[in-house]
Amino acid sequence: MRTIEHWIAGRPTTGSGDRRGAVWNPASGHQQAEVVLADQADTDLAVRSAVDAFSAWRTASLTARTRVLFAFREIMNGRIDELAAVISDEHGKAVSDARGEVVRGLEVVEFACGIPHLLKGDFSDQISAGVDTHSFRQPLGVVAGITPFNFPVMVPAWMHPVAIACGNAFVLKPSERDPSASMLVAQMWAEAGLPAGVFTVLHGDRVAVDAILDHPDIAAVSFVGSTPIASYVHRRASAAGKRVQALGGAKNHAVVLPDADLDFTAGQLIAAAYGSAGERCMAISAVVAVDSAADPLVAALKERAASIRVGPGRDADTEMGPVVTAHARDRIIGYVDRGVAAGAALIVDGRDLTVPGHEDGFFVGPCLLDGVTPEMELYTDEIFGPVLVVLRVATLREAIGLINASPYGNGTAVFTSSAAAARQFQREVTVGMIGINVPIPVPMAYYSFGGWKDSLYGDRHIHGPEGVSFYTRAKVVTSRWPHRAGPEPASYHFPTAT
Ligand code: NAD
Repeated sequence: MRTIEHWIAGRPTTGSGDRRGAVWNPASGHQQAEVVLADQADTDLAVRSAVDAFSAWRTASLTARTRVLFAFREIMNGRIDELAAVISDEHGKAVSDARGEVVRGLEVVEFACGIPHLLKGDFSDQISAGVDTHSFRQPLGVVAGITPFNFPVMVPAWMHPVAIACGNAFVLKPSERDPSASMLVAQMWAEAGLPAGVFTVLHGDRVAVDAILDHPDIAAVSFVGSTPIASYVHRRASAAGKRVQALGGAKNHAVVLPDADLDFTAGQLIAAAYGSAGERCMAISAVVAVDSAADPLVAALKERAASIRVGPGRDADTEMGPVVTAHARDRIIGYVDRGVAAGAALIVDGRDLTVPGHEDGFFVGPCLLDGVTPEMELYTDEIFGPVLVVLRVATLREAIGLINASPYGNGTAVFTSSAAAARQFQREVTVGMIGINVPIPVPMAYYSFGGWKDSLYGDRHIHGPEGVSFYTRAKVVTSRWPHRAGPEPASYHFPTAT
């Protein structure tokens, strides 16, 4: 059995802990590896090496840091297919989908390559007679990222390129369900010339998470995962005096108005609901059909959902792969069973799907339920699987009221041909990321990503300008020079940065 190790001080290590976690191949249903699970001593070792590395990295010039970022970008860009295959084998998603996630992660690296510009401070001349003020930002120290299973490359990449570019040392605690991609990323950073200890991978479960949250030498924690754990991480790390951003779960609504292009809308919604087997924090999981849009929309969704090609992620034809574990499959099917018992109409039933040749795989086919009401757990809970529920309302105002009553506020979308309706929607919903005829409005890397309400605890969104702000703190200097300094020695060569 292959063992997936930590990456500490620039090399793989099994650490001192003897606990191991199973890593499954969701398409075959068989265990393919085991991953080491960190204990307190492993965490201390990892953080010590990061502290040592930080003291040198924080003084590396912007030019030197930027060159490492550019080198990392080139290496990652050349290994997209390799990363995508590793993601697919442990997560289950289709390789084409995994490629998309790597490319979106790469975009954050490209954003971070602009760090010299992003870290420019301000200067105010002559704020008083002979007195000037300038501001600049400095790294925090050792910062940690704790990430979910559903984007094993992209979500960590929302964090580490920006944190490292800002001059921090970064400790990644990836999901223990699909840990291999992080080891490839660690190798890539090393090949790019990043000094040992600036990027660390510490595998583990809640033992490692608690050790990170309490560790006195970790200055900040970025977390992405489910809402209950995000809330826990935010409270515990804040109590330990750390800066925290904790992104949580979601229930993303798509509102469909009668004036929408229903053919286009149905195609978009199907891809957004069932892509990656619904295991995306920005997946559309609830359709709110307004008035006369409902009947034709449900008919169009039914036809498309029933024809999705479900299979192993490595097959080129596959549109939707398995879900991540047997436990996830059983949990998702349980929701559908109870939803039907509660009175929802099951329009497409994927509960009994078997994929020939992959009978033990963790497959659930697309499930579509109509007549869902706000009290049903099908609607109140994040199911995180290929389950799309339809609620029917009479007006746009009612639809907005439904969205705003939800405790989640990650993403939402409206489908309409009315600019006035779209404008009302974007101004009134209490949600962080909004699509207009765009079902998965994930911001580009140069904007920041984040939800409202129980979808994000903390006051800064992730990556983009807010990411730079999160991983640095500001100084403002007020200066006066009563005597002129002596002249610099002259140099005859053209000045270059080192
Ligand atoms: P999860 O909350 O189970 O796990 C996330 C991380 O927390 C993992 O690293 C895991 O090891 C750790 N963890 C799990 N249980 C813990 C515990 N009891 N104590 C301490 N740490 C614990 O989430 P998941 O199942 O891996 O990922 C899916 C969830 O992530 C969904 O809810 C999804 O919406 C959410 N998500 C949100 C975003 C976003 O941007 N808001 C993005 C991706 C995923």
